[in-house]
Amino acid sequence: MKLKIGHLYPDLLDLYGDRGNILTLVQRSQWRGIETGVQRVSIGDSLDLSKIDILFIGGGSDREQNILVEDLMKRKRELKAAIEDGLVVLAICGGYQLLGQYYQMSGGKKIPGLGFLDLWTEAGSKRLIGNVVVKLEGRLYEQSAQLSSSPLETLVGFENHSGKTFLGKDLQPLGQVLHGNGNNSQDGTEGVRYKNVFGTYLHGPLLPKNPHFADLLLSLAFERTGTTKKLTALDDQLELLAHQTMVQRIMT
Ligand code: GLN
Repeated sequence: MKLKIGHLYPDLLDLYGDRGNILTLVQRSQWRGIETGVQRVSIGDSLDLSKIDILFIGGGSDREQNILVEDLMKRKRELKAAIEDGLVVLAICGGYQLLGQYYQMSGGKKIPGLGFLDLWTEAGSKRLIGNVVVKLEGRLYEQSAQLSSSPLETLVGFENHSGKTFLGKDLQPLGQVLHGNGNNSQDGTEGVRYKNVFGTYLHGPLLPKNPHFADLLLSLAFERTGTTKKLTALDDQLELLAHQTMVQRIMT
């Protein structure tokens, strides 16, 4: 099979190495002999979600979010249907905020979100910047551990946002913050998971040093196509070293 990745607004949303997430998905597939294709989709470009296995949307400043929101809204119906049908989505920071109800900027102006997830974001007075370690939520950990030859309980990344995101009571976070701010620096949560949609504040980029999470996304995407074959294990020594080094550096 061929893994088809859609990259939304790559020219507008690409902070702190976000594109590295695409490179990781491509490389980890190719190492396994799986062909890949990446479609870059920006304002006005057509996108047929029935031809996409993983959709990626990165982070950007308030300015960029404002520029693209009108175009994003035009895609709302199709995106919602695909998400309810199990499309795998990874959304980082600004992209994550746009999945929710709204993002209220510091002047009070609200950028509407897609409203798919019961979460909302309000700009705080202080930027939340730095390295982050997250302990994965139990079920998510179990799911990723089944797929990985070297299961990891944590995610590591870098955050830089002023938005504080709050999850409605029925939504699950990706995990609990062990170090850093995460969703809002108040309730200890980081990110969100809804069906196969993953939202997070972690840039860095996220996937190169979180190979277990990259493989979770790949597996979910393959599962959705009806492929039952498990992903072959890769030699992740370097990736795991990068992960553990960051955990140790941040936590000690
Ligand atoms: N504009 C958003 C904020 O500052 C998102 C920033 C980002 O994507 N890094 O909250």
